[in-house]
Amino acid sequence: MFESLKKKFNGTIGKISDKITEEEKLEASSEKKGTNETTEKLESPDNSVKDESDKVVEESLTEPNSMKESDDNKSGIMGFLRGKSKESDKIKVDSKSSVETDFSKLENPISDELKSEEELSKEEDEKSGIFSFVKHKTISEKDIDDILFELEMALLEGDVAMDVAEQIIKSVKEDLVGRKIKRRNDVFDFTKEALRKAISNILDIVGKDITSLIEEAKKTGEPLKIMFVGINGTGKTTTIAKISTYFIEKGFTPVIAASDTFRAGAIEQLTHHADKLGVKIIKHKKGADPAAVAYDAVEHARAKGKELVLIDTAGRMQTNVNLMDEMKKIKRVIKPDLIIYVGDALTGNDSVEQAQKFNNAVGIDGIILTKADADAKGGSALSIGYVIQKPILFLGTGQSYADIIEFKPEWMVEQIIG
Ligand code: GDP
Ligand code: GDP
Repeated sequence: MFESLKKKFNGTIGKISDKITEEEKLEASSEKKGTNETTEKLESPDNSVKDESDKVVEESLTEPNSMKESDDNKSGIMGFLRGKSKESDKIKVDSKSSVETDFSKLENPISDELKSEEELSKEEDEKSGIFSFVKHKTISEKDIDDILFELEMALLEGDVAMDVAEQIIKSVKEDLVGRKIKRRNDVFDFTKEALRKAISNILDIVGKDITSLIEEAKKTGEPLKIMFVGINGTGKTTTIAKISTYFIEKGFTPVIAASDTFRAGAIEQLTHHADKLGVKIIKHKKGADPAAVAYDAVEHARAKGKELVLIDTAGRMQTNVNLMDEMKKIKRVIKPDLIIYVGDALTGNDSVEQAQKFNNAVGIDGIILTKADADAKGGSALSIGYVIQKPILFLGTGQSYADIIEFKPEWMVEQIIG
């Protein structure tokens, strides 16, 4: 699920981390070299230290080319850098007596034995590796602009809505630019945090909790009426069956209204699901008034004390005026408590556009995205809620009735950032 989105975000974290680390390493190496030369004049230390240091600079200069290769190489590069920093540690160990320790002894006569373990490890951390000499590096816009632009393009290609891609880039930039780097892992951690925050803000849309709505309605003796809208083939009938299962497991009794009286086979298909689940279905003949069918289902629920009415509706092209008029009529007659748009995650931008059309026509309260299990791109899952400012309530995650999960923004952030 959402593998491609995950790869894009993690690739960006790697790239920003690599790029800034690389710059730091170059600066650190050249400063270190400069210091060594000064020290050499003063104390003529072991030459092997300088040789190692030069080797690091030379190797660093060749690295940026390999960084331009595909994301797949990222972990390799990170491993390479980690290897490098170990090498720098080695340099430090080799040179301990000759360069750095001598300086610290001059400036700080307190012997190591007298320092607390914490102080020592902090000092060690700062002195070791690539950040030995840079304690004031600040991330600039120039450092990250190209990489974030690349991310924006990749997101758009992955069916992420323009507004969402722009918002993510803006938020990450605001978070990172001006941040001071003190430790080796800072860039990696800061970038990951910045992306996490940007995505959380995109996904964080407050919605209604259906279970509490059912319970509130129950107190007044009324069933909760949910109308499902969306075009054919997205998985609407399967989703109604899944939602029935979900709430039966919570102890409620649903009734289904077969209000797609237009499409050939729709009533039979829904009846098949209802029978398998042992759920009552209210249906009229093909071509009957969909609002009348829904009305009968509500009456049935009231009479039998059932808590939930799930109304299927027709779903030709979302641009079809008759279809939208029909949706409006059902809404007027039934006054549903919730209108849920069902969209197919695999159709990317299309599902976002359809949601906007339905939202404009009847006003939707929430979204169910189906086929998330097969969706590597994740573009619609990331965008759809933000674009229409309505929450995703559930994700369909397979073809069986149990394959539905409640959508939680933090869960999605974990999926794509880790
Ligand atoms: P409708 O025309 O919108 O009512 O669509 P259906 O409910 O008939 O579903 C269309 C197809 O999508 C069927 O083969 C379903 O099994 C399949 N489907 C529905 N939801 C999911 C899902 O979450 N994951 C997967 N993999 N397939 C699904
Ligand atoms: P299209 O060719 O599929 O776009 O169908 P039209 O929108 O031209 O509708 C043809 C006829 O079927 C008209 O008399 C409509 O009133 C009726 N109709 C259209 N859509 C629906 C629908 O979703 N449900 C029902 N019950 N009737 C519909």
